[in-house]
Amino acid sequence: MPQICEGDIPNRTHKRWSSYSDRLYTFMTQDRDERYMGYALDKARQAFERDEVPVGAVVVRGEEILAAAHDEKEASADPTAHAELLALRQAARVVGNWRLEGCELYVTLEPCPMCAGAMLQARIARLVYGARNSRWGAIESVCSLHNLPEFNHTIQVSGGVMKKTCAQLLQRYFREKRRPEEKSPEEQ
Ligand SMILES: [Zn+2]
Repeated sequence: MPQICEGDIPNRTHKRWSSYSDRLYTFMTQDRDERYMGYALDKARQAFERDEVPVGAVVVRGEEILAAAHDEKEASADPTAHAELLALRQAARVVGNWRLEGCELYVTLEPCPMCAGAMLQARIARLVYGARNSRWGAIESVCSLHNLPEFNHTIQVSGGVMKKTCAQLLQRYFREKRRPEEKSPEEQ
């Protein structure tokens, strides 16, 4: 008589449960992503009030926010003072280690090549971003630096989280605070 392994028996209950738990997981992840994107948006709004391009970023480890920052290019006259870079530096100081393994970075705008490079250097595990950056985006818009097999690190990505709110803030900034000929980065 042939032996039947447990794995051979179709288990409908298990199948039903796993599809339910998959949906629950997706729902919870979305909820969580929107919560942390909300914090990044708060930082972006602060930037807006300070006449900086309204981009905000937070670095999260587990359920702990290690760092939060917004663009400071104008105030610091520093071309590298992007929200992501400042948040990465802050987080590394908090952890006491340049390796931010297992950390996630939430940012309201798709990162530029400099920031995507810094995230790879910091070994960020996951990136979540809001609006697309059609002129400087180094994840999906202009190039994709996060998953090149030639680099010794790749980053898991979720894009488009609260993209409408993130984009609207940028559009408002460029409409109200910058010269009209300057376009918001997520505009073509
Ligand atoms: Zn950048």
